[in-house]
Amino acid sequence: ATPVSIMTATGRGAQAGVLVKTAESLERLASVDTIVVDKTGTLTEGKPAVSDLVTVSGISEEDLLRLAGALEKGSEHPLAEAILGEADKRSVQLAEAADFEAVTGKGVRARVGADEVLFGNAAFAAESGADLSAVESRAEELAELGKTVMYLVRVSGGQAALQGLVAVADPIKPNARAAIDALHRDGIRIVMATGDAPRTAQAVATALGIDEVRAGVLPEGKQKLIEDLKEAGATVAMAGDGVNDAPALAAADVGLAMGTGADVAVESAGMTLLKGDLEGIVRARKLARATVRNIR
Ligand code: ADP
Ligand code: MG
Repeated sequence: ATPVSIMTATGRGAQAGVLVKTAESLERLASVDTIVVDKTGTLTEGKPAVSDLVTVSGISEEDLLRLAGALEKGSEHPLAEAILGEADKRSVQLAEAADFEAVTGKGVRARVGADEVLFGNAAFAAESGADLSAVESRAEELAELGKTVMYLVRVSGGQAALQGLVAVADPIKPNARAAIDALHRDGIRIVMATGDAPRTAQAVATALGIDEVRAGVLPEGKQKLIEDLKEAGATVAMAGDGVNDAPALAAADVGLAMGTGADVAVESAGMTLLKGDLEGIVRARKLARATVRNIR
């Protein structure tokens, strides 16, 4: 590409709400046939709020938040903000926790007094040995509504006991459906890749007309998915916002970061969608095609 056309494209990109970092990514966007999209913060607003609290073992909702909030103080995950926001709203005083550990794609763990407390997804809670059957049907119902369900487990004297569930709702971005529809009309294959649970992921995917879903994917898994698709001959764009999306954004032919997302995501991507606007992809593709035509 000539420097002039790239400069023009970069300027037009900015008008279209897309920040073009590398000329190659804009050129490649024209020939992309597959887009992998992260769910949380990319298809959804990424501002989850607590919607439901389910307690077991006779503890109160406040106690559930006291523990979950204490653990999330050591986390930078968007889910942590939801939990801490709810605890704050109810003026719950958080428990004293120490030895925080965040397990990427799974949850958080810390020590509270002599006990170990875990808060995260079903797999993470099950690893502790806790019996989750008491809340199974409730968890399914919540997930069917597209909510993210987190389990709180307390390990006391070697015995792991489920304390309850916290569900958060994260609304789908208003123009996500229009962007997905436009990309589908363009013949692009769309795959959702998320660390969230299969039911939750499927509920969001169904609402958006996305029929390919990879759920429960760890960050390396997102990267592996991109590499596999490329290996199979696809030209792949990845759209994501999180720290956990950075390896996949870097591995894709075109990385599309949400301007609202983590710095490391923006740094790993060739393009940034300002304000996290997915329709920017559609506009950028039009621009990419026009630019490529001008060059050849
Ligand atoms: P996504 O791909 O949707 O951005 P992540 O990979 O960050 O999701 O997380 C996957 C799942 O792990 C979440 O849906 C949640 O159940 C659990 N999880 C991750 N981090 C935390 C945390 N700080 N607190 C509670 N649960 C967490
Ligand atoms: Mg995300």
